[in-house]
Amino acid sequence: MKFKQIYLVGISLCVFLLIMDFLYFFGESSIGNGRFFYALVIISLSMAWLQFWLDFFKEGKKQKEIEEKFTEFVRAIVKFISKRKILFAIFGFFERAFKKMTLGCRECDDCAIFETYYLCPESKCPKGMRIGPCGGSRVDGRCEVFEKRYCLWEKVYWRAKNRKQLEKLEYIINPRDWGLYETSSWANYFLSLDHSAKTIDISGKDN
Ligand code: SF4
Repeated sequence: MKFKQIYLVGISLCVFLLIMDFLYFFGESSIGNGRFFYALVIISLSMAWLQFWLDFFKEGKKQKEIEEKFTEFVRAIVKFISKRKILFAIFGFFERAFKKMTLGCRECDDCAIFETYYLCPESKCPKGMRIGPCGGSRVDGRCEVFEKRYCLWEKVYWRAKNRKQLEKLEYIINPRDWGLYETSSWANYFLSLDHSAKTIDISGKDN
């Protein structure tokens, strides 16, 4: 699926509505009532995404093929946006706001949450361990530093086990690339600039 120029109409409308929404509710002449702020954010984002989804489902392909095509498609969008300064700045602004609110993002931007079941090792582990539990983790699964909390990697294990995906833990997440600090982790992922492009298999199985 290719990125069509026509999609820019929906994206522009979405950006326009978002800017108006922010100005209306948080600008100097704001009316101070944010009840409809989130509703307008959802409507704006839907306007941008609906057109992709409609085209996407029209194709009616099998699940795996759809996933691959979707990734390919998002990659094409990110590539397109990353070459346009203003668009990329707006993209980065919303990415940061979203990740800070939902994940407590620390902007390492060589993001590991795709591998850690959306548990961020940078903000949820006091040592920022991204290759597994540290040597101080306790036998009952709790954290060495905060004994009332479970170790981040204990929770990653539960999530993988509940989804019957333990084999997904059979690799090492490469050390963070500090060169990517405070860039865009989404762009880094989709443009294969981060660690995910070169994971280290430790399953012992031949590929
Ligand atoms: S026990 Fe787990 S959460 Fe606590 S510091 Fe070690 S790796 Fe991080």
